[in-house]
Amino acid sequence: MSDDADLIIAGGGLAGGLIALRLAQTRPEVRVLLVEQGPTLGGRHTWSSFETDLKPASRAWTDRLIAHRWQGYEVRFPAHHRTLQAAYRSVTSERFHAELSAQLGPAVLTNAPIAEVAPDGVRLADGRRFKAPGVIDARGQAGGEKGTGAAPHLILAWQKFLGVEAITGQPHGLTRPIVMDATVPQEDGYRFVYVLPLAPDRLLIEDTFYSDGADLDVARLRTNIERYAAAQGWSLARVARTEQGVLPIALEGDIQAFLAAGERETPVARAGLRAGLFHPLTGYSFPDAVGLAERVAAARDLRSPSLLALTRAHAIKTWEARSYYRLLSRLLFRAAAPEQRFRVMQRFYRLPEPLVERLYAAHLTPADKLRILTGKPPVPILAALRQLRKETPAP
Ligand SMILES: Cc1cc2nc3c(=O)[nH]c(=O)nc-3n(C[C@H](O)[C@H](O)[C@H](O)COP(=O)(O)OP(=O)(O)OC[C@H]3O[C@@H](n4cnc5c(N)ncnc54)[C@H](O)[C@@H]3O)c2cc1C
Repeated sequence: MSDDADLIIAGGGLAGGLIALRLAQTRPEVRVLLVEQGPTLGGRHTWSSFETDLKPASRAWTDRLIAHRWQGYEVRFPAHHRTLQAAYRSVTSERFHAELSAQLGPAVLTNAPIAEVAPDGVRLADGRRFKAPGVIDARGQAGGEKGTGAAPHLILAWQKFLGVEAITGQPHGLTRPIVMDATVPQEDGYRFVYVLPLAPDRLLIEDTFYSDGADLDVARLRTNIERYAAAQGWSLARVARTEQGVLPIALEGDIQAFLAAGERETPVARAGLRAGLFHPLTGYSFPDAVGLAERVAAARDLRSPSLLALTRAHAIKTWEARSYYRLLSRLLFRAAAPEQRFRVMQRFYRLPEPLVERLYAAHLTPADKLRILTGKPPVPILAALRQLRKETPAP
C-alpha cells in the first residue's frame, strides 16, 4: 500500500501546527498530514510571548500568527510597580487556525481523534489508517490540558489559571498588558492577575497561581476575576470566551528517562510539551515550538528513525541547558513559603530589563545568573542553600 503522506503529525496544536507551517513555507514538496482531534487547529488558547523571546528570523515567519502586539507591559507587586519596554505579542487560536488552514490546505485533517501512533503511520478512532515513512507525536501534555501530573521522571509544580475574555461596558482605558498584578491576596501559592487589553472594550483577565497542586477551582477563579475587574473599575458586560491551563513548571527531573518512558509507549519523534519542551519557570512553550519547527524543517531525513533521533537529542540538549531555570523554580516553590513566593518575583522585577528579557527567553548569561542570586535573598537563606544542590533524578 502506498503512503498517504511523507510526514504525519499527530496533534494540530501549537508544536505540531508550527512544524507543518514551517515545512509548508520552506519545503512545499514535502507531503504533510496534520491530524487533529478537535474541530479546529490550536484549541482554545491565547499564546503570548515577548518579542525578544524570538530571533528576528523566527519572528519573520511566525509574524502572521500574531493577532495582538503591545509596546511595553506592567508588573505590579505590593512594594514595586514597574513599566517595562519590551514588546509583548499574542497568537490567538482563531488566528492560528485561520493562517494554518490557509497555508496548509488539504494537509489538515480535523475532527480526527487518533487511537494509535506508530513509526509508519496512525490509526484513527474510527478505524481509518494513514501511512507515512515519518511520524511525529505532537499530542500535547500527557493527560490533556487540564494537567494531571502524568509526567514520569519529572518533578513538576504548576502554573494554573482561568482566563475570561470579556467585553467591557465602557472603554476600559488599559493600554498595555499587566503581565503580573500580585497586589491581590496571596493564596494557593504565588497568585497574580494577568490582563491583556485586546481592544478598547475587550480584556482577557486571568487569575493565575504558581501552585503545588494541579486542581483548578473554576467557579472560585471566575468570582476572583469579577472581583478584580470591579476593583479596577471595569464593568464586564459579557463574557466572550474562557480558557484555562495547568502548565508544568519544572523543578527537577531526568529527561532521558522521561523520553524513554514515552518512547516505550509510542516509539516515534515527539514535539511540544510531550518532548518536555517548555520554559521550566513559566511553563510557556511558544518559543520552543518555533525552534523545534525550524529544526525539523531543516532536517534532511524526515523518516521516523531519524526524526526520533533528532527530537530526542534536541529535547535532551534543551533540558540540560536549563538546569539554572529549574533551580529558580525550586527557589520559588521550595525555599519560599507559599504566601511569600511573590517576594521572589518582586525582587526579580527590580533587576535591569535586558536581564528580565533574557530570563524569559531562557538566554541568561553567566553574569546574569550570578546577579540573580546575589544580594539579600527574599527567602530564608538556609532553605535557599538547600536548593542549590545538584538536581537529583526523579523516581
Ligand atoms: C490556555 C493556555 C494558555 C497558554 N498560554 C501560553 C502563552 O501565553 N504562551 C506560551 O508560550 N505558552 C502558553 N501555554 C502553554 C503551552 O504553550 C501550550 O500548552 C501549548 O499549546 C503546548 O503546545 P503543544 O503543541 O505541546 O500542545 P497543544 O497545543 O495542546 O497541542 C496538542 C494537540 O494535539 C491534539 N490531540 C491530543 N490528542 C490527540 C489525539 N488522540 N488525536 C488527535 N489529536 C490529538 C490536541 O487536541 C491539541 O490540539 C498555554 C497553555 C494553555 C492551556
